[in-house]
Amino acid sequence: MIETWVMKLAHIALICLVTATLSAQGLAPNTTYDPAVPTLEAVVGHAPGEEITTPDEIGRYLEALNRHAPDETRLVRYATSWEGRPLHYLIVGSKERIARLDEIREGLRALASGRADAASRTADLPVVVWLLHGVHGNEISSSDAALAEAYHLLAARNDADVDLIRRDALVIIDPMQNPDGRQRFVTTNLLGRAAEPDPEPQSAEHDEPWPGGRSNHYLFDMNRDYFALSQPETQGRVRVMLEWFPQVVVDLHEMGGNSTYYFAPPADPLNPLITPAQQKWFEAFGRANAAQFDRRGFPYFVREVYDSFYPGYGESWPIFHGAVGMTYEQASARGLAFRREDGTLLTYEMGVTQHFTAAITTAATAARNRERLLRDFHEYRQSAIALADNGTREYLIPPGDDPSRAARLARLLARQGIEVRRADEGFKAGDRSLPAGTFIVPLAQPAGRLVRNLLDPDVKMDEAFIREQERRRRERLPDQIYDVTAWSLPLIFDVEIVASERASSVRTSDLDPQADTGNGGAAAAQAPASLGFLLPWGSGAAGAVAEALKAGIRVHSADEGFTHSGRRFPAGTAFVRVAGNVDGAAGQLQEIARRHDAELVPIADTWTDDGISLGSGRVATLKSPRVLLAWDSPTSSLSAGWARYVLERRFGVRVTAMRTSTLQNFNMHEYDVLVLPSGSYSFNEDALRRLRDWIRGGGTLVTLAEASRWAARDRTNLLSTDTLLRDGTPERDQSEGASGSGNQGGAAKPDPAKPDPAKPFDYDEAITPERERPENLAGAMLRVRLDRTHWLTAGLDEEIQVVVEGSRVFAPLKLDAGRNVAVYQPVDRLVASGHVWEEARPLLSQRAYLMHQPMGRGHIVAFAEDPNYRAFAEATELLFANAVLLGPGH
Ligand SMILES: [Zn+2]
Repeated sequence: MIETWVMKLAHIALICLVTATLSAQGLAPNTTYDPAVPTLEAVVGHAPGEEITTPDEIGRYLEALNRHAPDETRLVRYATSWEGRPLHYLIVGSKERIARLDEIREGLRALASGRADAASRTADLPVVVWLLHGVHGNEISSSDAALAEAYHLLAARNDADVDLIRRDALVIIDPMQNPDGRQRFVTTNLLGRAAEPDPEPQSAEHDEPWPGGRSNHYLFDMNRDYFALSQPETQGRVRVMLEWFPQVVVDLHEMGGNSTYYFAPPADPLNPLITPAQQKWFEAFGRANAAQFDRRGFPYFVREVYDSFYPGYGESWPIFHGAVGMTYEQASARGLAFRREDGTLLTYEMGVTQHFTAAITTAATAARNRERLLRDFHEYRQSAIALADNGTREYLIPPGDDPSRAARLARLLARQGIEVRRADEGFKAGDRSLPAGTFIVPLAQPAGRLVRNLLDPDVKMDEAFIREQERRRRERLPDQIYDVTAWSLPLIFDVEIVASERASSVRTSDLDPQADTGNGGAAAAQAPASLGFLLPWGSGAAGAVAEALKAGIRVHSADEGFTHSGRRFPAGTAFVRVAGNVDGAAGQLQEIARRHDAELVPIADTWTDDGISLGSGRVATLKSPRVLLAWDSPTSSLSAGWARYVLERRFGVRVTAMRTSTLQNFNMHEYDVLVLPSGSYSFNEDALRRLRDWIRGGGTLVTLAEASRWAARDRTNLLSTDTLLRDGTPERDQSEGASGSGNQGGAAKPDPAKPDPAKPFDYDEAITPERERPENLAGAMLRVRLDRTHWLTAGLDEEIQVVVEGSRVFAPLKLDAGRNVAVYQPVDRLVASGHVWEEARPLLSQRAYLMHQPMGRGHIVAFAEDPNYRAFAEATELLFANAVLLGPGH
């Protein structure tokens, strides 16, 4: 009874507190609003911060504002999410500006050209401020702040800042970059809702079930996707940013509820291609925000946690097109109310208010500095053109062994505003002869710093920062590296790139960034094929064959190389015989190959000059694989999402995603392949036995990253190897307590031997932990050596670069257990790009990256790392596709 009363009292106190914070703050105190402008409450039924506005309601409110003020706004739908939801941006400006939008856009483009004669345009153009919200769907307050920003800019009267913004700026508000993720959050939050908002951080309404609302439909972190451009949401956004060329871009996020507010200047390390002028602006915007936050009594921090190094964030990608790009972070109520550790209450409304305040202050600061920002933007683009002075003038991308991959890289660059040309004829660069079809990327272009970021083999971190991280590592403190330290696209695509010191003078044509295919590799297929076709294996061929198999076309795969009509075809070449195949196979295949940029070589006979015959037992018959993918906890949602995306969308392979809880009791005999994304599984003994039986009966098990560690554990007993500890000894199950969490504690060491008086006490040794996992890598690129005689490596050469992160080291398989298809190179050749701790190198070198272990009639394919990393790891994605497409045929 007493308890009930106490709870009631606490509850009343809570309600008072919420009410107090609401009335004490308000979005913009003392502002007078035009009553004719529709409020959020009038349109959707709640005021800003009272409720978490749903994606549908956001769309409705934008339309209401646009309907009310068609001559002061423009509403543009720029993309559609995977789940079919619209993505919009709303332009807000004065009537005069909105009436001349096309002219303004043309002026901004001229400015972005960096041409000297465009400099005069700074006199009358508005400064473009792009406010991005909610790229992470569970970072909820920014989208409601966005709606408040739009209302405020349209409705505030006699407000000096708003008048200034309307006169000198064009504000582009993207209220919701990830509608699918937001909808997921809203649904689970509502489902867990108490009668009154429950501030308990662990309550159901705050605690999101797998996969959470952060990601989009394919579970991608879209704040890492800007240069990878794998998701339609990002593709649309990049396309429209290249129409407007904003000078200021802010990406508004949320962080943990116990924090305060973060804005620029960013933490170290800074990407070295960010200019001093941009850094000066970080400081200027930071100071202006700080002054406003002080005025309103909002705590904040700068220069901590959030760095500006990786060029694929929403804030950083625009930086390399010349914008002042900044991330803002608000402590998240992750619902309507959140009890912080210090006992205070964080409400949703407070989050909305603080984001709103930072966004409007930023727009006002930009408007106040309109001309200087435009001038600096023009100078940035102009100076980028002059950038090519340091030796390299052009990057050249020859078609190479897999023209589809080179073409894919070239298109990816062109789609993000980088000038790429294609040589119409062969030419020489230095003493190197390059064929027609070579792509040319000049460094002397307005986006030159983006070119350097994406194509240079390495972007260096500040040395002092690295030294500090080494010190922290020695002390066993967590490092401060926020994201991966390597992303070089030619390395990760394993596409050759030639740095040329001279601008080439060859005849070229422009590359159409929106075209499906780039290189027209299928051109050779014009000749009639009386007998069939050969498809040299590669990324394009893998996609084409997956689709052909789905269409019922019979395809074979040569496990060894051969020569036909004088041309050498490597192992992995696919062979399609027309006779006895489905009706119209030839025509259909030509169409499919064209779509995938796959080369199709017509043949009139099967005679091979050397190597294996096309009717050899070493030619496998492929089948359209029936693929199961483990879904839901305990899989890593990123790994599961990447795998699903790469199979379904990149290679067109049908996948059945199945919750791991269901999978445990599922009879898999109808399926050929099971993919276990990264995760620490806990299948019971019965499920494990059935899994082994299924493999022995012919199944292909593919394990990724942590799933491979799980498969190697003694009690799982699938993969016949061990993961290694920091000292190179096997990580065994007796340290069970340590293995799940990534924490290294381990079993207590027996008491040390009695002190030896002759030997002085070694303090450093005494404090060194026992049984530690290898040092954690933030994300770097390492070289692996491929076993070219194994079918898993079809379409790749002897050496590729792979993304490595975390702390997994696998002892190579013994000869009697299986084959190590990809092995890390020796120490002196190991690191291709990024930061790898000195002491971690010998541990990784010569250890296994990709293992193939036969088991009965089936087999296990185990990747030490995730081959589908952010869906930009082209070369390793092909290894993964090979496992799934070619595995069942072997
Ligand atoms: Zn975020």
